[in-house]
Amino acid sequence: MPQPIFSRRVMLIAAGAAFGASAVGWDLFSPGLSATAAGTYLRPCGSVPISSSWQGHKNRNPPSGEPGTDYAVITGTQIRAAANGVIVDRKDSTTTATGRYLALRTDDGNYIRYLHLQSSTVPLGARVARGQVIAYSGASGFGSESGYGPHVHVSLWIGGTPLQLGFTNSVDFENYAQPEDPVPIHQSSTYSWNAIVPVGVWTRVPVAADLYWLAHSSATVKETGDLTIYFTASGVTRGFQVRVVAETLNASGGVTNVAPQPALEIHGTIATTRNSPTYGDYSLPYSLSGPIRLFAEVRALNGGLRIQQVTVKKNYWVS
Ligand SMILES: [Zn+2]
Repeated sequence: MPQPIFSRRVMLIAAGAAFGASAVGWDLFSPGLSATAAGTYLRPCGSVPISSSWQGHKNRNPPSGEPGTDYAVITGTQIRAAANGVIVDRKDSTTTATGRYLALRTDDGNYIRYLHLQSSTVPLGARVARGQVIAYSGASGFGSESGYGPHVHVSLWIGGTPLQLGFTNSVDFENYAQPEDPVPIHQSSTYSWNAIVPVGVWTRVPVAADLYWLAHSSATVKETGDLTIYFTASGVTRGFQVRVVAETLNASGGVTNVAPQPALEIHGTIATTRNSPTYGDYSLPYSLSGPIRLFAEVRALNGGLRIQQVTVKKNYWVS
């Protein structure tokens, strides 16, 4: 089993400044820190149908006194805290239109209420963590355990408290909810390139017959993911360099900008001159939007260096 010659995660940042201010761009981020743009609040019960939207509550005749989002879940479903914060109000009776509820003051200064609960699992004053189970959903209201059909109603106020801002002045929780976690597509391809790599000349790396693109996005489709490139090579003495290049395109497909990323240098050992070990990994997290595509280039540091195979493994999703 050949040993990896290097193992180093490459974080590419150079293109961010070039593209960041325009509609065309890419962001390269630390794993796990990707979900920020559209809000960070966790939905109470994950990805479930919305039976009545915030706007739907406002459109009622008469309008809802406390507009919010109704998530359709059966009674007894776990409800998770949207954010870190403190439980600042708790009602345990089924009376009035709210039924049982919990109120969460989030650490970022906002106020969330969960209505029509079956039960609460955290006491008044409790500090709770984002994602912690704080209640079970119900249908409580108007003095009954079944004052409504089963669902959880979530109201959000920005800043202040409902009493300061007025119950009708809630905002649409969905606008602050974290995008659903995408399910990545796993892809692995190996191409038998079997080419001598020129010394000192950047050479585009094919990933299939006459195909070079590692990832691409368009004006309407973004691509986000993480890719790793492995090479099987022989004749590696001084070694070779690898880099990823981002090309930005115009509407007719012409290249308008080329952004080579920092190169990674791969050194050989005496043993590798006799074998064909796999060299990996060159890893790249990426997020592409607008007409842009990525490809890899290599250049040899010594003569007679042959790359036999190129393997690209990707986890990605399009949006
Ligand atoms: Zn509701």
